[in-house]
Amino acid sequence: MVISLVQQKVNDYYCELMDKVSSYITDKEEIDLIQKAYEYSSQKHLGETRLTGDDYMVHPLNVAIILIGVRADYETICAGLLHDLLEDDHTEYRTLVNEFGKNIADLVEGLTRINRLNFEGDKQSVIASNRKILVGLTEDVRIIILKLADRLHNMRTLWAIPEKAQKEKAKETLDILTPIAHRLGIGHLKSELEDLSLRYYKPDIYFSIVEMLNQTKAERDRNVADMIESVSSILNKKGIKHKIKGRSKSIYSIYKKLDKGKKFSDIYDLLALRVYVDEVEECYQALGYIHAVYKPMPRRFKDYIAMPKANMYQSLHTTVFGVHGELFEIQIRTYEMDEIAENGIASHWSYKEKGSNTKAALQNTMEQKLQFFKAIMELQKNEASDDEVVNTLKEDVLNTSIYVFTPDGDVIELANGSTPIDFAYRVHTNVGNKMVGAIVNGNMVPLDYKLQDNDVVKIKTNKNSVGPSKEWLNIAYTTQAKNKIRSYFNKIDKQEHLKRGEELLKEELRKRKVAFNDFLSPENIDKILRELKYKDLNEVYTNLGNNKLSIATLMNIIYHELDSKEDLILKKATQNKVVSPTSIKNDIIVRGIDQIKVNVASCCKPIPGDSIVGYITKGNGIAVHRMSCPNIKDIEERIIEVSWNDEITKKYPTSLLVHTTNQKDALLKIITKTSNTNILVQSIRSLTSHKDETTFELVVVVSNIDDLNKFLNDIRALPDIVEVERVIK
Ligand code: MN
Repeated sequence: MVISLVQQKVNDYYCELMDKVSSYITDKEEIDLIQKAYEYSSQKHLGETRLTGDDYMVHPLNVAIILIGVRADYETICAGLLHDLLEDDHTEYRTLVNEFGKNIADLVEGLTRINRLNFEGDKQSVIASNRKILVGLTEDVRIIILKLADRLHNMRTLWAIPEKAQKEKAKETLDILTPIAHRLGIGHLKSELEDLSLRYYKPDIYFSIVEMLNQTKAERDRNVADMIESVSSILNKKGIKHKIKGRSKSIYSIYKKLDKGKKFSDIYDLLALRVYVDEVEECYQALGYIHAVYKPMPRRFKDYIAMPKANMYQSLHTTVFGVHGELFEIQIRTYEMDEIAENGIASHWSYKEKGSNTKAALQNTMEQKLQFFKAIMELQKNEASDDEVVNTLKEDVLNTSIYVFTPDGDVIELANGSTPIDFAYRVHTNVGNKMVGAIVNGNMVPLDYKLQDNDVVKIKTNKNSVGPSKEWLNIAYTTQAKNKIRSYFNKIDKQEHLKRGEELLKEELRKRKVAFNDFLSPENIDKILRELKYKDLNEVYTNLGNNKLSIATLMNIIYHELDSKEDLILKKATQNKVVSPTSIKNDIIVRGIDQIKVNVASCCKPIPGDSIVGYITKGNGIAVHRMSCPNIKDIEERIIEVSWNDEITKKYPTSLLVHTTNQKDALLKIITKTSNTNILVQSIRSLTSHKDETTFELVVVVSNIDDLNKFLNDIRALPDIVEVERVIK
């Protein structure tokens, strides 16, 4: 009896699956293959149960049903049914290729690969880099969609696992997966994942919102029903064919607003409707007819049809005073826009059969979405610093945009949080540099004013302005504006350094009673540039001016007198003068000397905790090597005692050679281990590859030797690792 009930549930889901599949997949062969995938999977999972007590097949069937909800193609649905077979060694990749073809096998394999990743970490940079790793390891966007569907069903049944694990999964979902779902524009997966995550991650808040909603539910339902009836009759009178749905706001979006300090009673759009029409023009017509009857709330109208969001979302949004004077948020869109809003990147499949125009438009959409993937992967390659990566991602993925206007009515899209400074630099670099004030909606505003949607912004400039102030770097919000301000100052600084450098040289030569032109004879210039590896005299001046090059070094190239200077350093160092570490800004302390250029040697790349020693170079300060570095082994002269400055916490790059077996996942496993430790991978290069061994060079960025050793131990414990060593070149 019990067995038959369990079986009944599986059968019900199976019927639901086949029923829904036939709504948009018509090809007999494709349907047959889905059937085959189901039968194959149930045979392999025979007798297994999930922690929920259900037959195992309930899971793959639900994943497939979720995929149908985003109108996935038949290959993705087959992969959904088969997705756990490689993971638990039920089947081999080769067998899947033989039974279902390479495409489907690759999808299953891809999902298995990213499912093995274990993302942990609280820091923004770690979260961002995990998100990058996840997307970067995915060659086919369908794998990400499979991942989202798999996670959604697991979240729906999350009650079955222990509380600690629930919280971890919920947090990971919020950090890594929902931003990706958002960026892909898969609206309903995103919102259900968010609500479920909040339910487990912050249950107190979640249930208090549910409670508040329940208390007002009866009244809200009545209001919504009345409003639907009224709007529907307005549109019917004007002959606009339409459908209207009451819309409940997601619990997560209410949480976000409460989190920003809003009161529950102040959240307008608790009452919401969505109007669906056939044509784009009808959206605007419907809006006009609705506004004619129900007064719109000022400044709440948004035209996402003319200005689609970055994830291609389109709709008209307005807030009106409704039938009983309650505020209603109304969204108006075509069915096609709705398809894109709900299914995002996946929606291109469902319009396959339609006219060529639509197809071309959606092809274009698909390409734009894929560009997001490419952009993220490029971030991975670029040597952008972590801060930049995080900021770009924040602007790109997490924050929504605002739209503001120039006085001429041109629309400018800016990240939410932008100030007039960001606006000015977006308009033109010169507008930014010459800006002296800002007028928003006719009123003067301070420069740190936070721009709002629909603001009309006028920038006051003055051609005699002395340029931006350094303070603007703290006020500007977008990375773009900050970069432009920074580059302005770099340019100014460069000019000043150049001037100062030239003066320093002239002064020195005056002291030495050497004529400027004699010193800078063609032979001497040639010698200086060759020795310093500079490209021209300006570079010499600039480096003199910013203290990267000392006048003594320059003189030494021509007059060979620096050795005595270096003797001086040695002498000073051995005099044992004590310098208090707190007064030292260098990350490495050279005994007895508080102001000297110190470089970490690139051959052995020491990190804090390594035993180190300093080597006094010819005119380039002190190079710090690991004690064990063979490059300084036989040198006794010019060696000086150095130590790490504990006051300074900075991360250092260091190189590792990793020899692995040729297991496909070896590299992935190594990267995964970085998320457990405080280590970031800066670059990976594969060096050699033999029949059964591959060698990678990894440059990792790490705070100290303890973190590094922990990481090394972690990867040594992996089965596919033959050997790991730190590199000395
Ligand atoms: Mn699964």
